[in-house]
Amino acid sequence: MSRLSLYNRKRDFAVTPEPAGRIVKSAGPKRRFVIQRHAATRLHYDLRLELNGVYKSWAVTKVPSLDPATKRLAVEVEDHPVEYGTFEGTIPQGEYGGGTVQLWDRGTWTSQSAGDPERDLKRGNLKVCFDGKRMKGGWALIRLRDKDSGFRRNPRHNWLLIKENDEQAHPGEPEALASEVTSVKSGRTLEEIASRSRSVWHSNRAEGAATREVELSKERAAAKPKPVSRKATPAWAAPKKAVAPAKKKLRS
Ligand code: MN
Repeated sequence: MSRLSLYNRKRDFAVTPEPAGRIVKSAGPKRRFVIQRHAATRLHYDLRLELNGVYKSWAVTKVPSLDPATKRLAVEVEDHPVEYGTFEGTIPQGEYGGGTVQLWDRGTWTSQSAGDPERDLKRGNLKVCFDGKRMKGGWALIRLRDKDSGFRRNPRHNWLLIKENDEQAHPGEPEALASEVTSVKSGRTLEEIASRSRSVWHSNRAEGAATREVELSKERAAAKPKPVSRKATPAWAAPKKAVAPAKKKLRS
């Protein structure tokens, strides 16, 4: 079983523009990370840390807090393919995670401990250093005990995302990042991404606007699903309702 089996099983790639999952090898202590702002049933922030060929993923229920005293709930979700890190677009309603996805931050992360990050994650305590546009400096991901999280029968684990008290912290300002509402990839708001329209007015339209529109259409074309060879059941025939009980609870 691939670590991306659950990811692939939850999605119908004939309908959703999201990429099909493949595991990508990578090397070095600097790993990629992305945060995708996702207007699903509830607006949330999908934090993804590249590790051993996939993106370890959490759905953070509110904007990451720069106040070390304000902890954010981060619900662990299935590993995502590294290709997902460039995805920005709209997942059709009715599909898993239906709604608009915006690339809210991206960059690299390093582990603050000398040990294996995979082991730190298994132990439920990972301290990372982000080098992104909006996420900077030290943060901790701490897994809650299942009995504390209130989801004893739910296989999903709840974590806390906490800003370390360093130079990048803003004590007393938990909502400091809430004003950041544009894509780090395209500059678009969620509404602009959702409309997918060339006639949308861009508040940050500048002299490079024409070039940017061409780039955007390239991005849109690139975001379309590529044909996937499947040994087993093709996506259109896959019983995507098979995982229905878990998927309705929190759209990741
Ligand atoms: Mn999501």
